[in-house]
Amino acid sequence: MTERSLTHWSFKDAARACQGQSACRRLPHPTTLVAREPVGRTDKLLARSSLSPLRLLNLIDGALVPAASGATLDVLNPATGEWLADVPDSSRVDVDRAVAAARRALPGWAGAPARERSLVLRRLADLLERDADKLARDESDDTGKPVHVARSVDIPRAALNFAFFADAATQFASESHANDQAINYTLRAPAGVAGCIAPWNLPLYLLSWKIAPALAAGCTVVAKPSEITPLTAFRLSELAAEAGVPPGVINVVHGTGSRAGAALAVHPEVAALSFTGSTRTGAVLQAATVGQFKKLSLELGGKNATLIFADADLAVAVPEAVRAAFSNQGQICLCGSRVLVERTVYAEVVARLVEHTARLRVGDPREATTDVGALVSPEHAAKVLACIERARADGGEVLCGGARVVLPGRCAAGQFVAPTWITGLGPECETNREEIFGPVATLQPFDGEAEAVELANATRYGLAASLWTRDIGRATRVAARLRAGVVWVNCWMVRDLRTPFGGVGDSGLGREGGWEALRFFTEPKNVCIAVRGN
Ligand code: NAD
Repeated sequence: MTERSLTHWSFKDAARACQGQSACRRLPHPTTLVAREPVGRTDKLLARSSLSPLRLLNLIDGALVPAASGATLDVLNPATGEWLADVPDSSRVDVDRAVAAARRALPGWAGAPARERSLVLRRLADLLERDADKLARDESDDTGKPVHVARSVDIPRAALNFAFFADAATQFASESHANDQAINYTLRAPAGVAGCIAPWNLPLYLLSWKIAPALAAGCTVVAKPSEITPLTAFRLSELAAEAGVPPGVINVVHGTGSRAGAALAVHPEVAALSFTGSTRTGAVLQAATVGQFKKLSLELGGKNATLIFADADLAVAVPEAVRAAFSNQGQICLCGSRVLVERTVYAEVVARLVEHTARLRVGDPREATTDVGALVSPEHAAKVLACIERARADGGEVLCGGARVVLPGRCAAGQFVAPTWITGLGPECETNREEIFGPVATLQPFDGEAEAVELANATRYGLAASLWTRDIGRATRVAARLRAGVVWVNCWMVRDLRTPFGGVGDSGLGREGGWEALRFFTEPKNVCIAVRGN
C-alpha cells in the first residue's frame, strides 16, 4: 500500500461532515414512511402493543435513513416472541444509493495512509468495547443466545476483528521476486467496493469479520446483515461517525436476501463479494454472478465431525464434544454435529456425553445460568424439530432431548429445543449428511483410523473437524486425511485470527483470516523491472 498524504479529503473533515448530519441520524423514524403489512399478523400486532419497538435504519453515505420505499420488516425476539424492532426492507434503489456512496468514498479511503485507516478501525474496536454490555443485550435479544455468551464471545470478538485488522492494515506487505534478469514486485491495490453479506448466527462477529479486513485493505463497504438479526449492525452504523468513519466508507443496507442481498451481490460496481451463509444461497450467488468476474468468497455450511479415539483424554474430550455440539444452540457453522467414537470406548463415551448434556440448562437468555438459549426463529425451530422427526423415521434413537422445551414466564412463547443426541443412523442417512444447524448431534462408532476418516469424510461439506487422541502420530496422519479446511486436535474452536479460515466442497470457496482476507480484498499487480549489467 502506497502511503501518501490526503490532499482534498481528510478524516477530520469527514468526521465533521458526519456530525453535521447528526440531526438526520438522531431523528426518529418517520412513521409516515413505514409500510405495514396488516394481513395475517394479528399475533405480532398483539405482541407489539405493550412494547416500544426500535426503529432501525440503513447507513448510507454517513446518514441513517429508512428504505427509499419506507417499507419495513418486523424483527422478533425469538426467546419471548415479542416484537423487537422494525428494519428497513430495502430494495435495489437503496443498494444503488449505497454502492454509489461507497464508490464516491473509494478514492479518499483507498488513498489514505494505512495508519489513518488503522486509527479508524482501532476507534471502532474501542467503541464496541465501550458499549459491549449494551451490544451483548441487543445481540441476545435478537438471536436468542444467552447474554453471557454474547458478552464473552460475540461482542469481544467483533471488537477484536477491528483491532486485529487495525494492526494488519499497517503490517500488510507485498512480495518481491528477483532473478538474474529482473526484479518483480507486487502492488496490492484495494479491490474496490466490497459487498459483505452475513448470516444470523453470529451477527456482529461475522459482519465485522468481513467489514474490518475490507476497510483495512482500503475497500469501501456495502454490508447486508441478516434481516433476522439486524440490531447490532444498526448499532455499528450508529458508532461509525463517532469513530470517524468518513461518509460512504461503511454503508449498511438492511433487508431480505432475495431483494437487498441479491441486488448487492450482482451490482456491477461491487468488485468483491464476501458472503457467509447457507450452501444453498452460496450456490445462488455463484450462479448469479457468473460472467461478472468479481472476486467471490463463500463461507458456507458445515457437517463437522468430532472424532474421539480410545486413547483420548475423555475427561476433556467429552465436555468439549458437548460444547462443540451445542454451543450457540448448535447454530455455529463449526459445530461438531457428528461425533464418531472408537468402538472400544463407544458405550462409555455415549453414557458420559448424555450425562454431561443432561446438566445443560435450557433457559431464559438473560439468566447467567442459562447454557442453551432460544433458536433464532419459529421457522428455524420448526425445521430443526422436523429434522429430529426425520431421524426418528429413519430409525434413529433419540438418547436425550428430541423435543421443544416450554419455559415459564416471559419466555413461554420462545423457540427452545432441548439438546439432542441421536444414535443408530449410518453415514448415508440424511441426518448424517445434511446440516441441521440446531442442537442436534449424532453418534456413530468406528473401528480404527481408516474407518474414522471414511466416516468423517462421508459428506459433501468440508468445513471443520476436531479429533481427540494422545497419539501425535495418529493426530498428524488423520488431520492430513480429513477433508476439511480447519482441523482441531484435542480442542475445538480455538481461534487465531492470523490462520486461514474456510472450507472445501459444499462448505465454500476461498479463505478468510489474516493475510488471506487482505489478499481477497486487494488486487495484485506485478511490476517487472529489467536488470541489465553495465
Ligand atoms: P442464508 O444463506 O439464508 O442467509 C445469509 C445471508 O444471505 C443473509 O443476510 C440473507 O439475507 C442473505 N441472502 C439470502 N438469500 C440471498 C440471495 N439470494 N442473494 C443475496 N443474499 C441472500 O443463511 P443463514 O440462514 O442466515 O445462516 C445460516 C447458514 O450460514 C448455515 O448454513 C451456516 O453453516 C452458515 N454459516 C457459515 C459460516 C462459515 O464461516 N462457513 C459461518 C456462519 C454461518
